[in-house]
Amino acid sequence: MKSLIPTILIAIFPLVSYSQKPNFSVYNNQINMVKDEVKYFEIEKINSQFYMLVGGGGNVGVFISNGEVILIDNKYEILEDVLMTSLREITDKPIKYIINTHFHHDHSDGNRAFGKQGIPIISHQNAKKRMMEDVELYGGIYSFIKDFVQPKYDKASLPVFTYESKMTISQGNEEIELYNFGKAHTDGDSAVVFKNNNIIHTGDAFVRYGYPYVDLNNGGSIKGLIDFLGTLELLCDNNTIIIPGHGELSKKEDVTKLKNTLSDLYTKTVIGLKNGLSHGEISDSIEETLNGDANVKLNYIKSIELELSKD
Ligand SMILES: [Zn+2]
Repeated sequence: MKSLIPTILIAIFPLVSYSQKPNFSVYNNQINMVKDEVKYFEIEKINSQFYMLVGGGGNVGVFISNGEVILIDNKYEILEDVLMTSLREITDKPIKYIINTHFHHDHSDGNRAFGKQGIPIISHQNAKKRMMEDVELYGGIYSFIKDFVQPKYDKASLPVFTYESKMTISQGNEEIELYNFGKAHTDGDSAVVFKNNNIIHTGDAFVRYGYPYVDLNNGGSIKGLIDFLGTLELLCDNNTIIIPGHGELSKKEDVTKLKNTLSDLYTKTVIGLKNGLSHGEISDSIEETLNGDANVKLNYIKSIELELSKD
């Protein structure tokens, strides 16, 4: 009888895994919420060529040059009309390219609307790879992301141009450089640098809402994100305008501040764990300077521990 058990388990488990459909309910709830609540985007003018669209998903960058528009991120499919209304308040020029800073729904779900119009989409190669599957996001930092499964993108919604570490696009008077510096918010982030305008869109590898969400399920790394912030500092001078994935326009000093806060948290966590301190004791040793949510700080400490266990 005993020897039959493994045979039974082998027989049952494939059936279970094949019969389980991915559960998109958290994703669907989010889409419904966005549909009900988001009626317009705030338009922030950065200069005569550059605008930022704020609200209902990640910040969208709008770059106008040579009679054409390049969009950086595109929020949600369901907000296509809202996005186009905002864009048409700025310019009547056609969209030439869309750049995805990474694969997450709140930045790239709009691919599902714009891809089928034939607008070429550009991303890092790993972002495209993640878009080709149903993916479950890491739920260990913010509770509202628990059980969040993002459905795969169909072929027409996928990026058509990808790169490995750096890509350059010339457009009018501008050289646009896309960089991937390895694991950070995900394993497929792009920092999009507009050299002549001295503007950088960072996607979610730099944000202003407090503890930056890191997708440990999809190649993200807290240590990598801290390293990314260090590299981002080197790309900036004191006049650089940074469009974060979420939150207000920023400067180099804001990047430095976040980097120092996270480095301190990371170092104290590593040392604390080595010395056998509890998560709570480590948390108590770290001054709260980000958003005051003790739970998120604790989750960050646990996530660093998880990341270390995978090394
Ligand atoms: Zn993201």
